[in-house]
Amino acid sequence: METTKKDIRALSKEQLREFFVAQGDKEFRGNQVYEWLWNKGAHKFEDMTNISKDMRQVLEDYFVINHIEVDQMQRSNDGTIKNAVRLHDGLIVESVLIPTSRRSTACVSSQVGCSLDCKFCATSRLKRMRNLNPDEIFDQVVAIDKESRLYFNRPLSNIVFMGMGEPLMNYNNVLKAIEKITSPEGLGMSPKRIIVSTSGVPKMIKKMADDEVKFGLAVSLHSAIDEVRTSIMPFNATFPLADLREALEYWYAKTKNTITYEYVVWDGINDSRKDVEALIQFCKFAPSKVNLIEYNPIDDGQFQQADSAALDMYISMLEANNITVTVRRSRGKDIDAACGQLANKS
Ligand code: SAH
Repeated sequence: METTKKDIRALSKEQLREFFVAQGDKEFRGNQVYEWLWNKGAHKFEDMTNISKDMRQVLEDYFVINHIEVDQMQRSNDGTIKNAVRLHDGLIVESVLIPTSRRSTACVSSQVGCSLDCKFCATSRLKRMRNLNPDEIFDQVVAIDKESRLYFNRPLSNIVFMGMGEPLMNYNNVLKAIEKITSPEGLGMSPKRIIVSTSGVPKMIKKMADDEVKFGLAVSLHSAIDEVRTSIMPFNATFPLADLREALEYWYAKTKNTITYEYVVWDGINDSRKDVEALIQFCKFAPSKVNLIEYNPIDDGQFQQADSAALDMYISMLEANNITVTVRRSRGKDIDAACGQLANKS
C-alpha cells in the first residue's frame, strides 16, 4: 500500500486545488495545503490544522510527504558546514553552508552523482544515479537556512547550485525548486540571490533565456581553447565552445545579465598567455566576471594549482580588458566541502 502513495510535493498548487475539488471540497484548501508544505514545512498531514480531520485522512490515504534527513553534519575550522543528506530512498547527497562576515550562502546539489566527467572533480567519480526532485532540492535549502539561523543568527542570504550534479541536466526540477524558494508562499527569497552554475549545456542556456528566468548564471569554463577544455572536460567534444558561446550570446541578448565564469588555473594546463588571450576573446562580447577558483586537490596529482605569477598574469590581463576578476579562496577544505570535493566520503 505504502509504495503506491504519491509524494504530495510532486503536485503543483493547481493540481492540489484540483484534488480538493475532485474530493468535493473547496478549491482554496489546495492553497492551504500548499502553504503547509512549502512555507510551514509540515512533515505530517495531522499538523495541517486548518484542514478537516476527514480530509487529512484522505490526504493520508493518497499521499506521503517525503522529506530529507540531515544524516551527518560536519563543521570546518573556518565555519563552513557540510551536510550529508539522506533522501527518502536512502541515497545521499551533500550540501554546504558557506558563511562570510555578511552572508550565508547555501551550496546545493541537483543530482545524485553527476553524468559529466570533469577530470578534476571528485563528484564525477560517482556515476549519476538520479535527478533530485524539486522537494529534495528545496529541503536542502531549508536545512541550511535552519543551520544559518542556529549557528550564525541570521537567515540564509544566497544560494548557489554548485553542489553535486549538473543543474541544467535536471532543469525542470531545478526550476520548480527555485519557484518554491522564491515564491511568497514558499521561502520568499529573491531570485537575484540565486546562481545556477553549469558546465555549459548550450541548448539549456537558451531555454533559460527563453523562460526569462530571474536568477543568475555561472559557467564553469576553465579553458576557452577547445583542445584544452576537451582534455579536462571531455563532454566539451559534444558541446564545443562555439556552441556554448552562441548560447551565451543568446542569453545575454535576452537577459542583459553579466555572465560569471568559474575558472581554475592549473600548472602546465591553462597557465600560458595564450590561454588568457583565448579567455578574453571568449568573454568580451558581454559584461563578464571571471571568478578564479583555488584548486582543491582530489588526490591524483595530475592537476596542480598554478603559481601566483600565472594568477597575477590572468588578473592583470583580464583587468586590462575591462573584465572583472575575483579570486575565490577555498572554504571548508578540511572537511572535503570545497568546490569539486563533494563525493560522499564521510
Ligand atoms: N556541474 C555544475 C555545477 C557544479 S559547480 C558546474 O560544473 O558548474 C562546482 C564548481 O566547482 C564548478 O565550477 C567546477 O568546475 C568546480 N570544481 C570542480 N572540481 C573542482 C576542484 N577540484 N577544485 C576547484 N573547483 C572545482
